[in-house]
Amino acid sequence: MNMTTLPVLSDNYIHIYHDRSTVIVVDPAESAPVSEFLKSKNLQLTHIMLTHHHDDHIGGVKGLKEEFKNAVVIGFKNDEHRLPPLTQKVVDGDVINIGRLKFEVWHLPGHTMGHIAYISRDSHIAFSGDVLFGMGCGRLFEGTPQDMYTSLQRFKSLSPNTKVYCTHEYTVFNGQFAVKEFPNNQDIENRLRQEISHRADQKFTVPLVLGQEFLTNPFLLARDVEEFREIRERRNTFSI
Ligand SMILES: [Zn+2]
Repeated sequence: MNMTTLPVLSDNYIHIYHDRSTVIVVDPAESAPVSEFLKSKNLQLTHIMLTHHHDDHIGGVKGLKEEFKNAVVIGFKNDEHRLPPLTQKVVDGDVINIGRLKFEVWHLPGHTMGHIAYISRDSHIAFSGDVLFGMGCGRLFEGTPQDMYTSLQRFKSLSPNTKVYCTHEYTVFNGQFAVKEFPNNQDIENRLRQEISHRADQKFTVPLVLGQEFLTNPFLLARDVEEFREIRERRNTFSI
């Protein structure tokens, strides 16, 4: 699996999948770093996948479309009024075949009402945007706790070895919150230690391994919506 992750802005990631015939970029916050990378590998962009409408996920689409006019832009049909022009409009349950990859589209409201994720069960990868983060989840800008709780529960149907390509490097800060929430949880403590050391070595904590999230993510450990809501509220005001 040829995946490349480009760190951009203060803490965003742009993920790029590439093989001989297919080059997919997910949530291009900016065009220049993607364009430079593709040039350096002599690759032609074929697809842009968008998870939601925030600027730090779509900012690079215009520039990339100018350079790669035939690139297919994929996004949520119900949100097309606030996304860049889409050439493939998708809804929950759609299956997208791109080259040798097959993705399911999941509508996951909570962070925004039009947030989607792209899931490839065969390849064990998930592009989760701002829904699931390392030991955390996206802020509820538009949806209710029930929306986000239900969205997160869907990940429990996936194999624990699924690699989750989320779009922000928040893992250590989330982990510092998680150890306070679950002070006797050895898995969380061990993971935080490991992630701190990764970051000290300039390594990314993304992709996440879903099985680790099952064990250490406070929002997946929450037993019901009410507990989820309380944890989310404490996280909103958490500082070190
Ligand atoms: Zn966002």
